[in-house]
Amino acid sequence: MQTHFSLAQLADPQMASSEQVLRSCVHCGFCTATCPTYVLLGDELDSPRGRIYLIKEMLENDRPATTEVVKHVDRCLSCLSCMTTCPSGVHYMHLVDHARDHIEKTYDRPLVDKLTRWMLAQILPHRGRFRLAVYGAKLARPFAGLFKSVPSLAPIAAMLNLAPTHVTPRSKTENERRFTAVGPRRARVALLDGCAQPVLRPEIDEAAIRLMTRMGVEVVRPKGGGCCGSLTHHMGKEEPALANARANVDAWMREIEGEGLDAIIVTTSGCGTTIKDYGHMLRTDPAYAERAARVSALAKDVSEFLVERNLPVPVIAAGTRVAYHAACSLQHGQKVKTAPKALLAMVGFQVLEPAEGHLCCGSAGTYNILQPEIAGRLRERKVGNIERTNPEIVATGNIGCMTQIGGGTAIPVLHTVELLDWATGGPKPAMLDKVAVAA
Ligand code: SF4
Ligand code: SF4
Repeated sequence: MQTHFSLAQLADPQMASSEQVLRSCVHCGFCTATCPTYVLLGDELDSPRGRIYLIKEMLENDRPATTEVVKHVDRCLSCLSCMTTCPSGVHYMHLVDHARDHIEKTYDRPLVDKLTRWMLAQILPHRGRFRLAVYGAKLARPFAGLFKSVPSLAPIAAMLNLAPTHVTPRSKTENERRFTAVGPRRARVALLDGCAQPVLRPEIDEAAIRLMTRMGVEVVRPKGGGCCGSLTHHMGKEEPALANARANVDAWMREIEGEGLDAIIVTTSGCGTTIKDYGHMLRTDPAYAERAARVSALAKDVSEFLVERNLPVPVIAAGTRVAYHAACSLQHGQKVKTAPKALLAMVGFQVLEPAEGHLCCGSAGTYNILQPEIAGRLRERKVGNIERTNPEIVATGNIGCMTQIGGGTAIPVLHTVELLDWATGGPKPAMLDKVAVAA
């Protein structure tokens, strides 16, 4: 695609990076067929190619974002399905991240939208605040219908409906920083502390730690780490996102330069995609560029790390039917496609692959709160495809997908690592009490 940026514009590294992305697009339109919003809405401006044109016009002409641009960029899930499909290697993620940052800086959102985004940014990345909010949402849930009846308050209704009906007690190991390997130490890894996942499903990291330590891996959770920054990053709020990224880089670098790390393990694939991009996000910060790139190079989804090692011997009977839902952040963002399925099959599960596996479930960070109508349609479609495989369990690698899909089906939805831990000697997940599996 031809571009017409001035030299002065290209002196800005972010603009120069976006110009390269724009030039690589040959507007062939292959990406439209696999874009969930184009599939649902059928509007070219809700396709990757359409958004690329809108973003080009806005950036090239140095214009503030218009209501039209904001509408179509806000509808983008950042699912990155378009990046998997694109034959020209267009890095849409970096382009849309830049567009969101530009929107945040130049567009005056309607008051309720602004307040909702501010509230999400103030609550979600902070574990303590989020835990309080989950309790509050449980109490306010009966009023979700009232909020839903006022269109501008639909995000509040969506938030209340997504909140868990049962609040999981705080993990007993939440404040533990080091978990010793069982037997001889074969590797040493850091585990992302995170924000929302340890509140919603502390069982996930508990299972990951149990499984890895049984495999001879020492696990540490260095002090000073926390939210990866992806939730605010995807809302275009760059400063808090970069502050989170820097805090994690500092925490992990202390370990890398101390006792050393073989990997940085992430059990939430949405966070993994962002951490693997820290090198790009902090590339213009002289104090962090090199260290962030080192951190990104060490980051691994838990399934990537496990598939390279010998799992403990399975102890449950084979054959339980597990539908694997590929989270977009894992399959499109990180290109981790086969490891989770291979691991589940290795321990004896019958792995089922639902149709339209490339399409997003509608979770996408805060998308299911900010765009509840489209997110709801995507969930319905996803759950239908999953249920048609007639599974006993659904497995996936991202807490957002677990919450989104779990809200639309009675089939238990678990993290892949919970199933791997259980199958190799860990406790049976409480959610599976009603699933009969021979031991
Ligand atoms: S598939 Fe790639 S090159 Fe073709 S229009 Fe989409 S982004 Fe551009
Ligand atoms: S990231 Fe997903 S929703 Fe956004 S343009 Fe690409 S395919 Fe469409």
